[in-house]
Amino acid sequence: MLLNYNCNYFSLDLFLTMTMQEKNNPLNQSVQYLKSIGPKRAESFQNIGIKTIRDLLFYFPTRHLDRTTILSTAKAYGYLMNGYEGELTIIGKVEDTEKRRFNRKEIFKVQFRDSTGYFECVWFHGAKYLSNLFKVGNIFAVSGKASLSKYGSLQFAHPDFDRISEDESYNMINTGKIIPFYRIPKELKNSNLGDLSLRKIIYYSVENYIEYLSETLPESILKQYQLPGIIDAVKNFHFPESNNDLISAVRRFKYEEAFYLELLVALRKKNYQTKLDGFPLNIKTKLISNFLKTLPFKLTNSQLEVLSEIKNDLMSNTPMNRLLQGDVGSGKTIVALISMLIAVDNGYQAALMVPTEILADQHAKTISQMMAKLFKLHGGKEIKVSLIMGGQKKSIREQKLSNIELQEADLIIGTHALFEEKVNFRNLGLIVIDEQHRFGVAQRGRLMAKGKAPHVLVMSATPIPRTLSMTVYGDLDNSIINEMPKNRIPIKTLLRGDSKLPDIYKFLKDKKKDGYQSFIVYPLVETSEKLELKAAEKYYESLQNEYLSELNIGLVHGRMSWHEKETVMYKFLQKEFDVLVSTTVIEVGIDIPDANIILINDAHRFGLSQLHQLRGRVGRGNKQAYCILVTKDEYASSDFKLPLESEFLSPSQIENNKSIIRLQSMVKYLNGFKIAEIDLKLRGPGDIFGVKQSGFPELKHVDIINDSEIISDSKQAAFKIIETDPHLADASNEMLRINLLTHYKNNLKYATIA
Ligand code: ADP
Ligand code: MG
Repeated sequence: MLLNYNCNYFSLDLFLTMTMQEKNNPLNQSVQYLKSIGPKRAESFQNIGIKTIRDLLFYFPTRHLDRTTILSTAKAYGYLMNGYEGELTIIGKVEDTEKRRFNRKEIFKVQFRDSTGYFECVWFHGAKYLSNLFKVGNIFAVSGKASLSKYGSLQFAHPDFDRISEDESYNMINTGKIIPFYRIPKELKNSNLGDLSLRKIIYYSVENYIEYLSETLPESILKQYQLPGIIDAVKNFHFPESNNDLISAVRRFKYEEAFYLELLVALRKKNYQTKLDGFPLNIKTKLISNFLKTLPFKLTNSQLEVLSEIKNDLMSNTPMNRLLQGDVGSGKTIVALISMLIAVDNGYQAALMVPTEILADQHAKTISQMMAKLFKLHGGKEIKVSLIMGGQKKSIREQKLSNIELQEADLIIGTHALFEEKVNFRNLGLIVIDEQHRFGVAQRGRLMAKGKAPHVLVMSATPIPRTLSMTVYGDLDNSIINEMPKNRIPIKTLLRGDSKLPDIYKFLKDKKKDGYQSFIVYPLVETSEKLELKAAEKYYESLQNEYLSELNIGLVHGRMSWHEKETVMYKFLQKEFDVLVSTTVIEVGIDIPDANIILINDAHRFGLSQLHQLRGRVGRGNKQAYCILVTKDEYASSDFKLPLESEFLSPSQIENNKSIIRLQSMVKYLNGFKIAEIDLKLRGPGDIFGVKQSGFPELKHVDIINDSEIISDSKQAAFKIIETDPHLADASNEMLRINLLTHYKNNLKYATIA
């Protein structure tokens, strides 16, 4: 049983009445009923997911153009002469374009005209991209602040612009209003639908069908947050009378989206808590205090705090469901291990799931050693460690599986092989999942299903921004280790151009004399296995024969099995090598105390979180560590300056300077939370945190970074409702129930994962 789709919130008769009602609603008619939509156009709409008139009403514009304030060029001149400093919009035809170099930068200029005169637009970067957009004869609406250039021409620098189709600008039927612009995918273009025709069709359906929409947000929420009702909101999202109307409409849909998302989050949390009775654990202090005695260090205050939060969860009746965040190297493993020991001390098994085999192997080794030490000191029952992963020999594997089934293994460590069908735990009490975001929610669910109601601790070294921990991870309680072990010296991060490599090699050789080992990382660029191997060997040979010939060099690359990689890593750990060359990302979590330099080549090719993870490979001992980012000379000496705070990064700055922003952020920040925040700005949440695999609805309106207030308000409202009426049985919540069933049916599955 994978996903436990629990339908008991909703009675069958309700469902039937509901579907009857829905059948008769004109909104559910095919778009073909609309004027000017024949079978061919209807099919095109269908192909982009618009089947019914309702779907069309919810096909919102991607932007609007405020044509209430469109000026002629002549009028705009007059405004500027009178000292006007606000934004202007002018519509003009491209007369001429010009690309030219100035101070090593490429400038792009476009000359426009309308019936009253000329104006120009200028850009200081992006010339290549822009020159493909602005073709002579095209018509654009240009908006922004304008000024008079030193030659007296009216000039926009980096304005917003909208391409306008020809007929429209001549007819000007839409002038003097706020005009919606819709995304027009090729399916629509193919059946001859453009800006103008689509706008007409939608206008017509809003006029004639909007009254059939029924409200989807509770009255109380509309009131509390002063949101417009659904009919006004849909109307104003398409055809607002004023900018304020548009803003309220957009705000309503943000609230609605966040609210239903949080309802699902609240349901998931409630469902996990109530459906399953947890089993409270006893915390006997003896074992833990003995274990702490075997460690060569004291836990940091932050580790202790987090541990006491975990203990509280373990002692309570509801199963723990906690997210532990802590930067790379902050010491999460020990905290996890202590929690696991508590479970074992209570007669349960505990499992630790990690994303890679090499890491699983290392954890199994270090934890076994620790358990041996503990046994010496504590005596009693021996705590047995078992390692499960793919590709183990059959006989070994069967032995291990039977150990797990008979509870002859207490601490079980492994990769995702842990949740395979054949793995049967006799008595699983606690699951720890390391590097949470590398596993999907469904995978977590599968492992959880292996115990009756196991306590769950998930850990992440990529700190999860607050907005995300309210949403996608909103069912988890949150703990943060915000302090590094005391013996750590902050890593120095340097950014250097390729031309500095000889100096850097010299630095590596000098540092070797002080006992330093170094990682040298190359990005993985080759697509074929053969080429990749060749490239790795080439790097290795040129370093060994030329640049670092007096040092011993080892090589790991992506084509090695985990076992081969591990052998090399082990030799590195034993100091058989001074330098480890790597063309694969050095696996997360591996500990090599004397490796205190990491040199990352072509650093601009790596993602920001990846760079931060790589940097976390060094600085684990008590020596000054260095992270040297080597990149193109032009990046290293770029004039771009990171703004004081990342929120001041504008979209165009981001678009044009992504690599440099990543590199400079690495130099400026050591703190993983800061890095994650910037990464989120650069990449959006989908890629980084498993949002796409999370099973939550895709967010169309809510901006997960900037709408934190809306998310937090909706969370409060949604949690309150589920708290008082967990089955949404109350008549006042009928609307929510219906809406969840009709529009969030698929997401509901995930809400009931247990
Ligand atoms: P991460 O949070 O990245 O998983 P680890 O748990 O791997 O970090 O810890 C990194 C290193 O720091 C390990 O070698 C671990 O033994 C050590 N460590 C953990 N806690 C402390 C502490 N309180 N003081 C000193 N070293 C610690
Ligand atoms: Mg770790």
